[in-house]
Amino acid sequence: MQPDDLEVLLDRLPRKRIGFYPTPFHKLENLSRVHGVNLFMKREDMAGPGALSGSKMRVAEMIIGQALDDGVDTIITQGAHLTNSGMQFATAALVAGLTPILFLTRDEQQHGELAEYRGNLLLDKLMDVETHYLSAPGSAYVNRPDDKQRVLAAMTARKGELEAQGRKVMIVPTGGAHPAGFAAHVRTFIEMVAQARLAGVELDYIYHTTGTGTALPGMLAAKLLTGHPVKFRSISISHYQPDFWINEAIIAERVTHIFQTFGIEPPSTQAILSEIEVDNRFIGDNYAVPSQESTAAIKELARAEGVFLGPVYTGKGFAGLLDHIRSGMLKPGSNIAFLHTGDTANLFEVSGVVGGCQ
Ligand SMILES: *Cc1c(COP(=O)(O)O)cnc(C)c1O
Repeated sequence: MQPDDLEVLLDRLPRKRIGFYPTPFHKLENLSRVHGVNLFMKREDMAGPGALSGSKMRVAEMIIGQALDDGVDTIITQGAHLTNSGMQFATAALVAGLTPILFLTRDEQQHGELAEYRGNLLLDKLMDVETHYLSAPGSAYVNRPDDKQRVLAAMTARKGELEAQGRKVMIVPTGGAHPAGFAAHVRTFIEMVAQARLAGVELDYIYHTTGTGTALPGMLAAKLLTGHPVKFRSISISHYQPDFWINEAIIAERVTHIFQTFGIEPPSTQAILSEIEVDNRFIGDNYAVPSQESTAAIKELARAEGVFLGPVYTGKGFAGLLDHIRSGMLKPGSNIAFLHTGDTANLFEVSGVVGGCQ
């Protein structure tokens, strides 16, 4: 299928335009020279409407498009206390005239009690978003069934209260992993391939940081639908494993869902799985804890190119990419794009990236 035909199918799905698209795509000239590859960056961090944006804005556009079609007036979503997704959904909801409500979990053993509004929380506060905090010890997002139940029960109770007042409420799972948004990053792929061609290259690899599994399904579906030979390499910030809330099989299900949404026969699950390559080696000690490699990668990119990554997601993803170059997993001269999914506000939340003042 040609990209134009795919765009016709996409345009039939609900979408409320909020961000600035297409997002920029540019070559990292200095790092390309140093590492002997052609390295490009796709700037979802610049998706808008604020300067601190990310990959969830496209997802929010589609889910909110669906919400508006359904007469919804309130969006409840959840995330870790430093959630990028929550901040972007809150922004998007407000712009669309909907009321956002956030349920945020904080691992107090790891990160201490909430003492100050910083990072995304500062932005949520600035937008006057109704925010509820729950302590979820020992977990990355909310991994333990008890914690999951507790958060779901709290969101459902708030939904019930609002419905009793005649409001119509939609609950969006962590990271915006709602079926109405699975196809959002089909557009990212179409834009990126076209932008790379304008720059005179065909992409060999797309790298990105993976967590909740919202960017990869759309990009992978677009690759399969358009028959592009590019390979995906996903650097994970929490372990992909069987029986976990996120793993390769769930990504494959979402790809299948996208094909079905378009009314196209999906490839076999095996064929989809063979396109997924998740590297779990760059998580570091834990979710939202900066790793040495991530900090080094954040600094290397900032010093060479003036582009800022974040310590929770994109620093770890970029660390994986740099390691793959250094260890020979990427051949010299390869055409590589890194999807900058955002996370910049977390530079102002997670301390320890630049060390203390002397
Ligand atoms: C949510 C998020 C991710 C992970 O995205 P998925 O595509 O949902 O796995 C990566 N980077 C940033 C900055 C994010 O906010």
